[in-house]
Amino acid sequence: MTLTVAIVGRPNVGKSTLFNRLTGRRSALVDDTPGVTRDRREGEGKLFDLTFRLFDTAGLEDVDDDSLEARMRRQSEIAIEEADVVLMMLDARAGVTATDEIFADKLRRGDKPVLVLANKCEGQAGAAGLAEAFTLGLGDPVAFSAEHGIGLEEVHELLSEVAQTTGHADELAADAEAEDASEEADAGPLRLAIVGRPNAGKSTLVNRLLGEERLLTGPEAGITRDSIAVDWVYKDREIKLVDTAGLRRKARVDQKLEKLAVADALRAVQFAHVVVLVIDAEQGLDKQDLTIANQTIEEGRALVLALNKWDAVGEKEPVRSAVSDRLTRSLPQVKGVPVVPVSGLKGTGMQKLLDQVLRVYDLWNRKFATPDLNQWLSEVEAANPPPSVGGKRCRLKYVSQPKARPPTFVLFCSRPKDLSDSYLRYLENELRHDFDLPAVPVRFHLKKSK
Ligand code: GDP
Ligand code: GDP
Repeated sequence: MTLTVAIVGRPNVGKSTLFNRLTGRRSALVDDTPGVTRDRREGEGKLFDLTFRLFDTAGLEDVDDDSLEARMRRQSEIAIEEADVVLMMLDARAGVTATDEIFADKLRRGDKPVLVLANKCEGQAGAAGLAEAFTLGLGDPVAFSAEHGIGLEEVHELLSEVAQTTGHADELAADAEAEDASEEADAGPLRLAIVGRPNAGKSTLVNRLLGEERLLTGPEAGITRDSIAVDWVYKDREIKLVDTAGLRRKARVDQKLEKLAVADALRAVQFAHVVVLVIDAEQGLDKQDLTIANQTIEEGRALVLALNKWDAVGEKEPVRSAVSDRLTRSLPQVKGVPVVPVSGLKGTGMQKLLDQVLRVYDLWNRKFATPDLNQWLSEVEAANPPPSVGGKRCRLKYVSQPKARPPTFVLFCSRPKDLSDSYLRYLENELRHDFDLPAVPVRFHLKKSK
């Protein structure tokens, strides 16, 4: 089961525009099951880190075997039945119409989460319609623009929440099409987040990486500009620094600062491919650092540790091994996270740091050929077969990697329920070792096959 999202709304509000934006080239054409599903489109939607099954209810205007209104009611019912989340779209420039009310009415009676998207809200023309949309009784509408991609963060927020609560969050990845992953791999810049506790030296480090004083640093620093453009190229690779909120929030020093810093970091992690966690080497790793490190892996991102202020450390080796040891103990699920000593202040270690960033990014993008994976599977199974449960042994049939970013594997076996966690850990460790996949999360999904 995948997270399923429906877009509903009357014709011409912009549903297809959103559908196309979210599915890109991934959209499959119309599902031609007779009857109910005839006039809808389905595809694999993607929004930031989320993938989901998306359908819209386009084509209503072509249907004349029934009244439009009846068809719409039916469509909303299907959407409510089948979707985990409903996006109800209206045209804010046209205002709320009687037809919109019909949809809203149905949706209010359903029990699925609904987000009202007041579309075409770029510019001023949608303001009145947006205000009207509050009256639909479906929560605060989002000022949206399918054409310009405005309001997608709100959609992402709701989908993430629902994915968490319905337990879809993790398995989604496994269902993604293999070819998408390889397409994605080359697409766009590497999204890098630099996170860490206040005063770890993040701003200083970023300045150094960028080679200019773009962010204010130092204990006296106040809030800097609202948005900081941070894109650069290193070794012909485009890098984009994402979510600099944590860097900006420096002036307001109070007890909450540490907590805020963690919250900032966690948000940044969600939008990143690679996360550099900056540690003050004089202080070592603490609980909050480990929280961020853990979250990075849980979110499926690649991790690099920057051991900053290395210039100020006297006895270097004990410091380094203390940090590495603690990291290994606290993050047993990933091995070999790079720990790079740096000094933002002196500018040492910058190349090594970025090289590691590129390296883990490439690992995170790796795709392995199915024959190699299956060769591997038969070897590990032969070396250590799954213990039998109740006299029956789970047979491992087949393994494939439907996607990368992070590497995600699906293992087909005869009795998935009988595979213990420890056996899965064995497989995962072997796989990491045999295919040389340190520092990045690996996802393993089990599927039943006869
Ligand atoms: P559907 O019938 O609901 O699938 O609507 P379409 O996606 O076909 O869009 C209907 C019209 O609205 C098209 O001309 C789109 O270009 C336009 N449209 C879609 N989204 C936006 C938007 O965000 N802003 C504006 N101004 N026009 C939009
Ligand atoms: P942020 O809060 O994580 O952005 O940290 P800042 O970049 O503002 O740095 C906090 C303090 O640590 C400042 O006083 C910096 O000068 C100092 N600092 C940053 N990097 C280094 C470093 O590599 N070595 C030393 N000795 N001090 C540093």
